[in-house]
Amino acid sequence: MLDADFFRRWMAVTSVTVDREAERLTALDSPIGDADHGSNLQRGFSAVRAALNKEPPATPGAVLTQSGRLLISTVGGASGPLYGTLLRRTGKALGDATEVSREQLAEALRTGVDAVRQLGGAAPGDKTMIDALVPAVEALGDSFTAARAAAEEGAVATTPLRARKGRASYLGERSIGHQDPGATSAALLIAGLVDVSE
Ligand code: ADP
Ligand code: MG
Ligand code: MG
Repeated sequence: MLDADFFRRWMAVTSVTVDREAERLTALDSPIGDADHGSNLQRGFSAVRAALNKEPPATPGAVLTQSGRLLISTVGGASGPLYGTLLRRTGKALGDATEVSREQLAEALRTGVDAVRQLGGAAPGDKTMIDALVPAVEALGDSFTAARAAAEEGAVATTPLRARKGRASYLGERSIGHQDPGATSAALLIAGLVDVSE
């Protein structure tokens, strides 16, 4: 079972990974965006990590809802509200249980991903974070490592796609041939589940 500390550590690990990968995320956002994805997420997840360390919430749901709210308030740009909604709605779906199973997390994350789809209007194949998140949620029923592999595959598979949502869509055909930064960071978020469960 996964308790509040598991979720707090998931957010902390994600913050460390985002720090380590910030330059790469920003570099991916340079040809098809405005070169700020790494710094956007760094700012957001640093705030999340600091807040959770200061006053750790008592339940998995509360860890994620608080993290989501912080991302919304600290990250400018498209990814703040989208990642914020993902975590807030996932947390809300977990309710006030003190421990949840991986299967329950998979179910809640599906609710969160659906909320992101609704907010941003992106479908699979539109070259966004959705392309990593949807396969990850599907595979999370099997295992954390399966979810990590599915998310990474989904992120890599955005390269030949033409962007239909977000800034990259302004480039039309010229968005083809670049991996989507948000799908890449979504894969990092999912990979964090493996790090924390080991
Ligand atoms: P901004 O584009 O405002 O600078 P970021 O660079 O932080 O924001 O995030 C860009 C990422 O956000 C994209 O790579 C994409 O994955 C994701 N994104 C943008 N718009 C949408 C959308 N409508 N739905 C889902 N994801 C989106
Ligand atoms: Mg950007
Ligand atoms: Mg921006």
